[in-house]
Parts: sequence; C-alpha cells; structure tokens
Amino acid sequence: MEQRKPVITYTHTSLEAADATLNNLLDLIVEGTWDWSRSSGEVKRSPGWYRMLGFEVGVFREDVFTWENLIHPDDYQRVMQNFEQFTSGQIDNYSIDYRCKKCDGNYLWITDNAQIIERDPNGVVTRIIGAHLDIHERKTAQLELFEQNRLLRADNVTLEKLITQKARELEIRNRELQQKVLEIELISNTDPLTQVPNRKKFEEELLNEKCRSDRYGHELSVAMLDIDHFKNINDTFGHETGDRVLKKLAAFVTENIREIDFFARWGGEEFVLIFPDVGLEGAVSCAQKLRQLIAEHELYPGFKITCSFGVTAYHSGDSLDDLFSRIDNALYVAKNSGRDQVVELRAKALT
Ligand code: GH3
Ligand code: MG
Ligand code: MG
Repeated sequence: MEQRKPVITYTHTSLEAADATLNNLLDLIVEGTWDWSRSSGEVKRSPGWYRMLGFEVGVFREDVFTWENLIHPDDYQRVMQNFEQFTSGQIDNYSIDYRCKKCDGNYLWITDNAQIIERDPNGVVTRIIGAHLDIHERKTAQLELFEQNRLLRADNVTLEKLITQKARELEIRNRELQQKVLEIELISNTDPLTQVPNRKKFEEELLNEKCRSDRYGHELSVAMLDIDHFKNINDTFGHETGDRVLKKLAAFVTENIREIDFFARWGGEEFVLIFPDVGLEGAVSCAQKLRQLIAEHELYPGFKITCSFGVTAYHSGDSLDDLFSRIDNALYVAKNSGRDQVVELRAKALT
C-alpha cells in the first residue's frame, strides 16, 4: 500500500491569523524578510526585520526609502549597483553583505538574499522577496582577522626593513671594526719612530720563513746591521737628529731591498733583514751592496754614516736562538774588525 507523505495543513479563520503564522515561521528561519512590489511601490517587512534592528515593529513607512536610508553610507553605492545588476539580469543571484543602521545608531552587518518572483509580460521585474540575515558577529570577527593580518603584514614589512637596516648598520660596524683591527695590528707590528716593522713582527716573520724553509727546503738568510758610532751622532747633533737619522736610514734601506726581503728595527740603532730563498753568499752580497749604498749615501748634504753587518744562513735544525747567536757573533766580529763591513758566520763554523 502506498504511503502518503505527511503534509502540514493550517486552518486559519482570518487573514491576520494566517499572517501571524507566516511571520512566526519566518522569524524562525531568518531575522527579517522583505517583499517589494513594483506596482504598489511598497516594501512589506516582517516583524523580525524591525526587531533585528531594534525598532518597534511597523514604525517605518513601507517603501524602499526606509531601506535606503538605513544602509551604511560606505556600502550604499555597492548595494545599489548590486540591486540594479540583479533586476536588469546582469547577475543571477542576489546575495550581498552590508551594514544597516540600528535603532541605537550602531550598524549591523547583514546578508541580504533575494529572489525575483514576478515579472510583467515584458520581462520587467515586478516583485522581489528577500531575507535579511544577521551576520554581525561572524563578519566583525572576520574583519578583525583581516585587520590583524594587515597589521601583521605591515609589521612584518617594518620588521624586514628594520632587519635590513640593522644588517646594514652591522655590516658597516663590522667593516669599521675590521679596519680598527687592521690598524691595531699595524700599530702593534710597527716601530713608531721609523715606521718599519718592529722586533715582534720580525720574530713572527722569521718563524714563518723558517717553517717555509723546513717545508720546501728553500734557502733562508738573515742579517743584522748596526750603525757605527751612533752614540757620537747623538752626542754631537742631539737626540732628535739621531732620531731623524734612524728614520732616514730605515727609509733608505726599505727602498734598496727586494720586495720579498723583510726589513725591521730590532731596537736602538740596530736593524734586521730576512732574505727568503737566498743562501749565505747571496745574503752577503746583498748586505755588501747595502753597506756600500749606505756608506755612499748622504743622509743630509755632506752627512754620511756607515753600518756594520752580521750575516748568517739558516740550516735545517737551527733554532731561532742559534740563528741570533751566530748573527750577534758575526756583528761583533765586524765591529771589532774596524766597522763598515759585512761578516758572515756559517752554521758549521760553530759546531
Ligand atoms: P758602535 O759602532 O759600536 O755600534 O757604537 P754605537 O755608538 O753605535 O753603539 P752604542 O751601543 O755605544 O750606542 C748606541 C746608541 O744609540 C746609544 C743610544 O742612546 C742610541 N740610541 C738607541 N736608540 C735610540 C733612539 O731611538 N734614538 C736615538 N736618537 N738614539 C738612540
Ligand atoms: Mg748597537
Ligand atoms: Mg752602533
């Protein structure tokens, strides 16, 4: 046996009673409804629509102006355009979110859904029914989220800028620091009077060359030069002139050695030379050349000095002390043999 679908039937004794049922049902489904008729120009709104906005039911005239006056000014153009597009058939669905003014002056976000239910024979829309849905909480939460995202993105951009700025500052600071380190290094390695490398730098350099010589079997020689009777210069012309002589000699020697030779002030009026990749004979001839150049060179017009040289070559197994001790001895011999000369001392001569 075919089962009949249950059908709800209403029995109203008056039109008012039928309307009441309808409005109650509408209240359950949506917040408010509207029903626009072109011919009468009327817009009938459900009691729920008034309540949604906090107004007393029926306080407004039943026309479109009531609606238009309640739309938020910032949403008005958009809503009107949407309505026209819908009635002219440019869009099929009418569903739009906008703000409506409430009784207390605040605005309520609603979704307005509508449907065309009548047209005249020319196709002109003559009746539309719509429903207003209160979406205020969802919409404000969503907008708040958008705003937070926007701020977050703006903050991120600022943060990125800040990081870039800080990175740039850091880079500059690092470069300055690096520069300072180099300056300090240079100062700590340079003799302040003559501006040639000092004894500390010489010892580092000699150790490096010794290691290189051990590694590759390269020859390596060292010389020390000492100004002859320098005390006399100080005594005769004064300490300042003595200083100037030291400076001039240092500059002169620097100009007259090879690029790879290393020249430093040992202390007082004593200077040292490293000849990398040069054996004893080569070093002796370099020292002789220098000795002669110095002796012939006028530091001041008519003013010359002489230097004595001690030279030795590095032999595998030598300690730095061995080297220095040989140089010292050679220099001692040079001084005792009349000065202005080069004396060499071989490693085997001591063993
Ligand atoms: P010698 O030929 O035996 O080397 O005699 P000398 O006079 O050169 O050697 P001595 O060691 O007797 O004297 C070295 C002098 O060098 C003594 C010291 O006052 C001077 N002297 C050392 N350092 C400096 C300096 O920086 N400036 C000046 N003007 N003199 C210095
Ligand atoms: Mg001396
Ligand atoms: Mg001297």
